[in-house]
Parts: sequence; structure tokens; C-alpha cells
Amino acid sequence: MSATLEPVFGANVDATRPTNVLVVGVGGQGVIMVSKVMARIAQLHCREIKQSEVHGMAKRGGSVFSHVRFGAEVWAPTIALGEADVVVALEWAEGLRWLPYLNPVSGSLIVDTKRIVPPFGCIDRRRGATLAYPDTRIAEVAAHVPNLYALDAEGMAEALGNPRVANTVLLGVLSTTLDFPAEEWRRVIAEFVPAATVSTNLEALEVGRKWARRVHEGEAVTAPLNLPQARPAAAVVDSVALDINPAWCKGCDICVKMCPELCLRLNENQKAELTDAALCTGCHICEWLCPDFAIKVNLLPTAEAQHA
Ligand code: SF4
Ligand code: SF4
Repeated sequence: MSATLEPVFGANVDATRPTNVLVVGVGGQGVIMVSKVMARIAQLHCREIKQSEVHGMAKRGGSVFSHVRFGAEVWAPTIALGEADVVVALEWAEGLRWLPYLNPVSGSLIVDTKRIVPPFGCIDRRRGATLAYPDTRIAEVAAHVPNLYALDAEGMAEALGNPRVANTVLLGVLSTTLDFPAEEWRRVIAEFVPAATVSTNLEALEVGRKWARRVHEGEAVTAPLNLPQARPAAAVVDSVALDINPAWCKGCDICVKMCPELCLRLNENQKAELTDAALCTGCHICEWLCPDFAIKVNLLPTAEAQHA
């Protein structure tokens, strides 16, 4: 449609074959929103577009993924191994899991360094216990990926006052790798997000674009891996305090169902609340699985640990 595309920093679009974008993450992170925005923009420019998605157990913290393929002619709805031009990963381990799909010669991996430990990673239920999670470092991944964009998208979104726009920060980075005008990304995102969050989402898009611009200019801005699961040893944890934001809780019940200690419930207003603080081990499962970032788990150190 548009013949005059604004200059981009690294274009993956090739007129002779479909362009493949794979979006992956964990239930509740907004994978489908990223995929829909991508598909809508492609629809404005390409004759054929195919999108498929899987989000069966997503609400319980499972994997969610979506394939988007667009170009002059697209046959299969899914991307073959080694053929994704871009993998957008909203979570670090999900990014690693889908790496075999990335084009090994020219592909771009855009990955939030946020780490979500799946419920089955919390094998040891004692307070302060170590959690199972892949130990792969950014440098190891960089050695195998043609173009790596590893950023603390959730931290950037939090700085804007709403961690839920982390997916739009990643869209900002994605927008710099494809030949579509920035104005269209803005317009389509404004169409897809709730009216009250349009301005924050547009700011998030810009934050992602600016960060990507620094990468393309050669700045070393790769984020360190977020280590939300690096918990203090059991011996130094005195108690756990939960901050539950009722304004963000939509009463979906996920935290209640997934708490291994059964110490959460929905109150009469359909908001999550702790029933027995003594039972809570601070495992963080409720915090990681809440799709609305409504829970924050705080591990409070013992007096000795505080003065050590
Ligand atoms: S705190 Fe989060 S996971 Fe729990 S009921 Fe509310 S929205 Fe759902
Ligand atoms: S309330 Fe949250 S942090 Fe506490 S045990 Fe349950 S899931 Fe873990």
C-alpha cells in the first residue's frame, strides 16, 4: 500500500518470500496483542497474511505462541524451523525454547530479560528455596544469534508507571526491524489497547524504538538478566508480606488456584487476599502468574540479616 516507507534501522522484509515473525511468551503477558498488531500492520501492506496462535493452558502460566507470516504469497500458516526472521520473546526462557525457529543467518531475537519461573520450577517449597530455571547467559545466546536485542522491557515499562506495557516496548523494538512506517505502528497500537492506556502504550513504543536505535548505533545497551528469583537464603527470610493491588486485580482466580500453600482466596469483592500469612512461603508463584501485575511478594529479612 504505502510506497514511501520511513527509513528503518534493519529491514527484514524481503519481497520475494514471506516474512516470518514468531511471538512467544507466557500466559497473561500479551503475546496475542503483539501478534495482532503485527498482523494488522502487515495486512495494510501485504497481499497475503496468515496468523496462527496457541494459548491453551496460557492462563495457568503455560507457553503461548503465535506465528505471523506475510508477503505477496503465503501458503502455510506456521513457520518452519530456522525460518523466523524475527522471534519476539516476552520471557527469557521462552526465547531460548524457540531459538531453533530463528533464521540462523539473518534472524533477530528480541527478548525481554524478564524471567518467569513456571510453577513446576518451585519444587522445593521451603521459604527461600532455590528455584529451577535455565542458567543460560546472554553472552552464550549472543554467540548463536545474528541480531540480538535483549532488554529489560518490563523495567522500562515500570518506569513509565505500568509494567503491563512491556509488550509494547518490545513492539517498539520490532518496529525498527521491519519496513513499515512508525506512524502506522502508533495508529494500530492505539486501535488495539484500552482507551485509558493509549498514551502510556505510545510512550512505551517510543521507549522501545529509542532503545533499538541505540543498539543500531552500536551502543552496548544489552540488559543484564533480571533475576527476580534470586531469593535470599531461607535463613535470612523472617516473613513474607504480600502487596495486592485491588485496583488491578480482576478476580481471575489464577493465583488462588496456583498457590501451592492454598493461602489465597477471593474476597466478597472478588479480589485476591491472603488468608494466612504464616503459610505463605514467598515462592512468588502468585506474583509471576498474575496476568495483571496485581501482586508483589516481599521477603522480609530477619533482624540479624538486616544488621549483618
Ligand atoms: S491477583 Fe492477579 S491472579 Fe490473582 S485473582 Fe487478581 S488478577 Fe487474578
Ligand atoms: S501466596 Fe503467593 S508467595 Fe505465598 S505461597 Fe502462595 S503463591 Fe507463594
